Amino acid sequence: MDEEPTQAKRRLLFLFSDTGGGHRAATEAMIEALELEFPGVFDCKMVDFFRDYYPAPWRFAPEIYPPMTKVGMWGLAYRTSDGRGRARALTGLQYPYLRRGVRRLLADNPAELIISVHPLVNSTLPRAMRKHPLPFITVVTDMVSTHAFWFDRRADLIVVPTSWAKERAIHFGIPAGNLRVVGLPVADRFAASQIDRQAWRAEQHWDENLPAALLIGGGDGMGPLKRVAKAINDARLPLQLAVICGRNEELKASLEALEWNIPAHIYGFTREMPSFMAGADMLITKAGPGTISEGFIKGLPLILYSKVTGQEDGNVEYVLENNAGVWAPRPREVVDALRTWLENPEAISAAAAASLSLARPNAAREIARIIAEQCGVQG
Ligand code: UDP
Repeated sequence: MDEEPTQAKRRLLFLFSDTGGGHRAATEAMIEALELEFPGVFDCKMVDFFRDYYPAPWRFAPEIYPPMTKVGMWGLAYRTSDGRGRARALTGLQYPYLRRGVRRLLADNPAELIISVHPLVNSTLPRAMRKHPLPFITVVTDMVSTHAFWFDRRADLIVVPTSWAKERAIHFGIPAGNLRVVGLPVADRFAASQIDRQAWRAEQHWDENLPAALLIGGGDGMGPLKRVAKAINDARLPLQLAVICGRNEELKASLEALEWNIPAHIYGFTREMPSFMAGADMLITKAGPGTISEGFIKGLPLILYSKVTGQEDGNVEYVLENNAGVWAPRPREVVDALRTWLENPEAISAAAAASLSLARPNAAREIARIIAEQCGVQG
């Protein structure tokens, strides 16, 4: 019997880096959505271009990123490089050192379409592909204050998460026709799963009746998370606190050792974020785009306690302007915000509704369809 010839899968290359947790999470969300929308059609490969292909010191970017964002110079460096000409000049200066690595990356990872999920590869890539151009699209994973590095006119298409980000792209010279406002790609489980909130809370030994505040500092447990947790503990508010320390083991150990006055649940890195958010009543977080977008989908009111200066400034504005939460950069202000909410349940409900109204639960699937369209694959 003749066997049906198996069709070769369509190869896609996703360029990201583990500078923070958001680029990886967004990339994984898109790959998951591609498989859900087009089962068996695409062969997706993720490459951390910094770690695997760039020379030192760029190679250490994933390790250097969390401490770098804490130093005062970070904001200054971000702002001074954030212009079309300046970004282009900086890329030009670095290119001679990066060229070999990018060319090796392209030779090692053949693909019919490249999807960039990181600002620091968008201008290097088309330069390296000058002789053998491949289509490439950029999926911007910063929500609002999107740096000039994200935007290169040579991209075939640029997908942005908000209309605010679209305005920035236009400001940096990207034609409106090359832009799509879709949302930030978030794992399907946030939108799809029907999580049994009560069962989850019982399983985690969370108090059935107390409001639960979920405290998160991105994938790396960044920002003054410990001081915020201690202030909440000292205030003895009528709530329980769940803290996700991410990959920050030291923070986890020190919070576990703390003498708690309120019911507290301390966790390390988790893959169960959709359940944690479904079980919580409010979200206290660093202004990371991934966590904020996930919080919107779960309709959680937000208290933003810190931000990475530069790329996360606009996230704070976006949340405040849309009444989905408050900005509380001092631990005392986090406590005040919690107290106000606990005393005014209508205020929590209003912020929760505003948060939900900003949700774009289908972004990853929409982007999957855009990618397929770019490859000429019919839905
Ligand atoms: N995250 C996770 N498990 C954890 C902590 C964080 O899956 O224990 C995910 C979180 O749900 C989000 C991402 O890591 O998708 C963090 O992205 P964000 O943009 O908020 O912050 P970043 O870490 O990039 O600064």
